[in-house]
Amino acid sequence: MALDIETRPALVYTWGLFELRVGVDQVVDPGGMMSFAAKWIGKRGVEFKSDFHDGHAEMVQRAWEMLDEADVVLHFNGRSFDVPHLQREFVEAGMPPPSPFKQIDLLLVVRKQFRFLSNKLAHVAPQLGLEGKVEHEGFPLWTKCINGDAAAWKRMRRYNIRDVTLLEDAYEILQPWVPSHPSHAAFTGKEVCPKCGGTKLQWRGYAVTSVSRYRRFQCGACGAWGRSVHRETHAEVAQVAA
Ligand SMILES: [Zn+2]
Repeated sequence: MALDIETRPALVYTWGLFELRVGVDQVVDPGGMMSFAAKWIGKRGVEFKSDFHDGHAEMVQRAWEMLDEADVVLHFNGRSFDVPHLQREFVEAGMPPPSPFKQIDLLLVVRKQFRFLSNKLAHVAPQLGLEGKVEHEGFPLWTKCINGDAAAWKRMRRYNIRDVTLLEDAYEILQPWVPSHPSHAAFTGKEVCPKCGGTKLQWRGYAVTSVSRYRRFQCGACGAWGRSVHRETHAEVAQVAA
C-alpha cells in the first residue's frame, strides 16, 4: 500500500520571529494529521480522508484499518514522518497498534543508491521522467484548509492524491534498486523475484559468499538481481574455502 499524509502545523504564541525558542506552554495547537491518501499497489483508485471531508476520528480510524490490512507500506520519508505521525494519532485516540507491516521508504532508497542534486520527490520524480507534484500556492494553502476553505481543500485533495500516484510510479522504476526489499518469495513461498514477484528469472552466474555459492538470477520483469535460496552442492567450493 502506498501512503502519504498531510499535516497541519503547530499553532503557537511567540515573542519574536527569529532565533525562536518556543516553550510547550506557548503551544495553542500541537498540529497533527489533516489528511491522508492511500492506494493498493497495482489496483485502481486512491482512498482519501481528511479532517474537512470526513472528520478527524473517522480519518484516523480508516488509516488504522488500512495499515492493519497492509503487509508492506510504501512511502517517501515515511519512516521518520508519516508512520510516526500516524502512530501518534493512534495512541492519542486510544487505539492499539495495527498488525505489523514492512516499510519501503523511497527517500532512503534514493539517498542510498543514487546521487541526485536533491532527494526531494519534487526533484527526483521529473528526473525519472514522471509528472511533477501538483503546483499550489505554498503555505497559504495550509492556512486556508485549517480555516475550512472548500476550494483550498479541493487543491489539497488533488495534491495529496497525486503524491500517492507519483509514489507508485516512482516505485515501479525504483523497485529493482530497493535494498532488502520485503521478499515476494517469502510471502508466496515460491521461487519468484523477491522484489516484484515476477516468475521469468534468467539464471546468470553465481552469488558467492565466503563459504557457499548460490545460483544467481536477474528478473525478466523488473531487472532486479536475486539468488536461489538453495546452496549449491559444492565439493570444489569447500576446497577453496579450506
Ligand atoms: Zn522483479
